[in-house]
Amino acid sequence: MAAVPEKLEKVRDEMFRIRWEGGHVSEFPFRYLRQNCRCAACRDEFTGRMILDPESVPKDLKASKAALVGNYALAFAFSDGHGSGIYTFEALREICPCCAKAQA
Ligand SMILES: [Zn+2]
Ligand SMILES: [Zn+2]
Repeated sequence: MAAVPEKLEKVRDEMFRIRWEGGHVSEFPFRYLRQNCRCAACRDEFTGRMILDPESVPKDLKASKAALVGNYALAFAFSDGHGSGIYTFEALREICPCCAKAQA
């Protein structure tokens, strides 16, 4: 699956939208992104096991900032103070909410 973003867009304080090469559009609510954070504090780097309790993420979580990291990833500053997670485009493409749902 190609993970080349064509268009990146922060939709208000609520979600981040990515249009991928090929036309697929992914909409990531910030709470969802926060719950899928892959930083060392949220997920065990070696086993991949989640350390973060997804339910502990505030329901009204927002992101104040979204920034490009190089040309391969995004970083978000979340309203709960967490900001160490880096989301590669490949990982984002993988966790696309509509595609993840279709597979389940
Ligand atoms: Zn994290
Ligand atoms: Zn999708």
